[in-house]
Amino acid sequence: MPRHDRDEIARRAGYATWREAVQATAGLPQQEAGRLLGVSHPTIRVWRAELGLDRAAARPSPAQSAEAFRQDGHDARHGTANGYRNLGCRCERCTAAWTAYQRDRRG
Ligand SMILES: [Zn+2]
Repeated sequence: MPRHDRDEIARRAGYATWREAVQATAGLPQQEAGRLLGVSHPTIRVWRAELGLDRAAARPSPAQSAEAFRQDGHDARHGTANGYRNLGCRCERCTAAWTAYQRDRRG
């Protein structure tokens, strides 16, 4: 889509430029942003990618999630075999849960 058409779409939705429109709707789900601007959600995805906004809104990688979990002592997954094995936590509660799990498995 030519850039001036994008700007036309943005102006109809009340924004000065498509860039401004994409930035202003960056916090919304793609479907919702698309509805607001009058374009399809794949278009929103493309526009966000062009502005580098897709990465900022992306979910954290599994490694980052596991790291955040290990830092958060109040996370309910501590004290589970999952916490130990899948999330790599070696706190006392997770280690104990893992030991118990192994013991039960050998049962
Ligand atoms: Zn733990």
